[in-house]
Amino acid sequence: MGSKKKSALVLGAGGFIGSHMVKRLKLEGYWVRAVDIKHPEYSDSFADEFIVADMRDSIITKELLTYQIENTKSVFDEVYQFAADMGGAEYIFVGDNDADIMHNSVIINLNVLNSQKEINETYQTNMTKIFYSSSACIYPEQNQLDPKSPNCAENTAYPASPDSEYGWEKIFSERLYLTYARNYKIPVRIARYHNIFGPEGTWEGGKEKVPAAMCRKVGELSAEGGTIDLWGDGNQTRSFLYIDECIEATKRLVNSDFQGPVNIGSEEMVSINELVAIVAKVANKKVKRNHILNGPIGVRGRNSNNDLIREKLNWNYSQSLEKGIEKTYDWISQQIKSKQNKMFFKD
Ligand code: NAD
Repeated sequence: MGSKKKSALVLGAGGFIGSHMVKRLKLEGYWVRAVDIKHPEYSDSFADEFIVADMRDSIITKELLTYQIENTKSVFDEVYQFAADMGGAEYIFVGDNDADIMHNSVIINLNVLNSQKEINETYQTNMTKIFYSSSACIYPEQNQLDPKSPNCAENTAYPASPDSEYGWEKIFSERLYLTYARNYKIPVRIARYHNIFGPEGTWEGGKEKVPAAMCRKVGELSAEGGTIDLWGDGNQTRSFLYIDECIEATKRLVNSDFQGPVNIGSEEMVSINELVAIVAKVANKKVKRNHILNGPIGVRGRNSNNDLIREKLNWNYSQSLEKGIEKTYDWISQQIKSKQNKMFFKD
């Protein structure tokens, strides 16, 4: 008999990063169970099994963490925990959603860890690796006041003072994963993602991130161009990592013995005004900016620092922002066209 297929559980697999991870795991030959409160919006999941479930329920979560093959219950080789109540600046920085963001995401993480701990005790094992997706939003606001030289090295996270409740939830949950690793020997891996973008990410509706929002706004202009609204003066800086690179770095982290937390991001820092210029170039449109100065913008500057991941995993981002925007703009343009067609045929 050949060696047993590796198994993975992807939580939050109806979302952007989770659905891309499912694809990657299937390409690598895993048996994959995917879980979310909703199916992926833009294409069918590649998972062997897709379960629609709410992981705020501890009993349901515990059931999800084992699977049955030929009358034998098994634990997963790997669990990828992407499920979270999250969105772009308009969702996480306005304050109105803070209680839900903290409650929903914390309870999911508590349920995952405690269920895995109980299952490990029953099965007398601790073989299941759990990957947790933390965020650059955990870094202290005071290190990100200067848009030209923000400091997001991993060892600057403390004393903690994230600028959003979303960031506080993430830093608390990082600590939660580390306690279960320490006290119950659960192998965990923690990454701090820096603005992941690409095709099949949310592009409209208020939960989209800035690269998708800019591609949509520019895509909706006429062929000659026009004016788009932009929050803040546009001098705030960020870096953005293309989804395929994020998945590759995440897999390397899970395959390694390094626990993290470690940044997974790009070091190609641009201002939001520069990002708009890149999107305009890719779209071949003349774009003017209308700055809305009282909109939610987050910290003044943020950039990934990849020193640690280069050292520990020999990984670095390799694709230019412009290349990633080309692929994302193409996909969002198609979404806009198919939405317009649907509306045309409805009328
Ligand atoms: P996403 O919103 O597309 O995916 C999260 C998924 O979790 C959604 O599909 C959602 O339905 C699901 N979910 C929420 N509550 C649930 C519940 N109670 N039960 C089951 N499923 C539930 O987000 P994403 O961009 O794919 O991000 C994935 C993870 O990475 C999140 O934890 C996020 O905080 C983290 N992260 C993402 C970025 C980024 O730039 N995308 C940056 C930093 C960190």
